[in-house]
Amino acid sequence: MTGPYETEREARAAAEAATGGEHGTAANFAILASAIEAAGIEMGTWDWRVVNWLAGWERSTVAVIAGLIARANHPAGSIALSPERAETVRLALDDAKWGRVGKGVGCPDCDAVEETSRAPDDLPACERHRPDVMRAERYDEMGRWLARAAGLPVDDEPEVPR
Ligand SMILES: [Zn+2]
Repeated sequence: MTGPYETEREARAAAEAATGGEHGTAANFAILASAIEAAGIEMGTWDWRVVNWLAGWERSTVAVIAGLIARANHPAGSIALSPERAETVRLALDDAKWGRVGKGVGCPDCDAVEETSRAPDDLPACERHRPDVMRAERYDEMGRWLARAAGLPVDDEPEVPR
């Protein structure tokens, strides 16, 4: 049950469909609890008491709250990845990153740049390999972001050599 609902009737119909026609506080509570569980929201005792109170409202109101929880959890256009799939994408980004960094390995121009004294934010790459290092940094940043979003372990030091 996600909405958006344009009318009260639509919201009521969605609630009825979700509970197989059951209504009342217990059915409403099941709708809310299901949305909360699907979103993986950590709940406290007071949270549950308020949800229980909300369940006493009309089905059409409960459907809206459940829909808001669902839409906030998966905004339109967002992609939901299981932790396993997020890890797979992170590994692929890591391979792509090292593939890009590897392009400059053995390049005499890159070595020359690396040996000259440089500012800390200079890239250790020649003109030709600079775009590879920049792309590797983007992959690294994306991998970290993904790991954080998926609750995977992240170390905070950038891994692209500078
Ligand atoms: Zn180079």
